[in-house]
Amino acid sequence: MADSTAVDPAPVVVDGRPTGEPLIVLDHVDKHFGALHVLQDVNLTVHRGEVVVVIGPSGSGKSTLCRTINRLETIDSGTITLDGKPLPAEGRELARLRADVGMVFQSFNLFAHKTVLENVTLGQIKAKRVKPSEARTTAMEILERVGVANQADKLPAQLSGGQQQRVAIARALAMRPKAMLFDEPTSALDPEMINEVLDVMVGLARDGMTMVVVTHEMGFARRAAHRVVFMDAGQVVEEADPETFFTAPRSERAQDFLSKIL
Ligand code: ADP
Ligand code: MG
Repeated sequence: MADSTAVDPAPVVVDGRPTGEPLIVLDHVDKHFGALHVLQDVNLTVHRGEVVVVIGPSGSGKSTLCRTINRLETIDSGTITLDGKPLPAEGRELARLRADVGMVFQSFNLFAHKTVLENVTLGQIKAKRVKPSEARTTAMEILERVGVANQADKLPAQLSGGQQQRVAIARALAMRPKAMLFDEPTSALDPEMINEVLDVMVGLARDGMTMVVVTHEMGFARRAAHRVVFMDAGQVVEEADPETFFTAPRSERAQDFLSKIL
């Protein structure tokens, strides 16, 4: 991820306190799926430049939480703001939100019939009205950054899972997002490909990207997270810096979860 123009970002956490402005704020958010109360009074502030890792048992609401932040899911009550503004509901503003908050899924979700290069240029051309030649230049720079520029003319199916996921990250980055959401980005990968994706994510974190990352990769959390948020049954049960969370979780639910995965 070396970038000669990048400057070292200011420290985002000093004495355990984030120094950046709030970028993503969830305030008393509730969400139901029918009778299921999937997000229960969730409060969460993600500061500019902060990396928040969300962990918790399957079904605890982690994906739903991510999806509400770029409005792939609506909420029943409470508010979510990005940069101080409520999330837009529709139209061009919603398209802009999806560009501003990039999302990377477990299952890559690339356009199967487009080349790698087209996957990374299309959004720029359609949603941001970037000239095709400029979009290609940007795409090649970002593909270079994530280490797959030499695959630009291939179709996604011709790439390994790790390469496809790096293309998915590149596609989101090409929109110049303010924040990135990752929902179990390495869960579908063969073990030998996990690190090539995590390394790209660590690089992004070091470059100061604001990130919300749902993952069970505790090594990533220890290397890159400023804060760990533990969810269970639709609630944020506990938040702490990674060292504290992994060595001395306060809640019984977190202790129980960690005893199963560590
Ligand atoms: P996690 O990502 O932590 O595994 P999810 O956010 O995917 O949890 O799901 C939380 C709960 O909501 C689960 O019980 C899941 O089955 C349910 N759920 C998720 N999406 C839907 C949906 N579209 N319709 C109904 N129930 C859903
Ligand atoms: Mg999930």
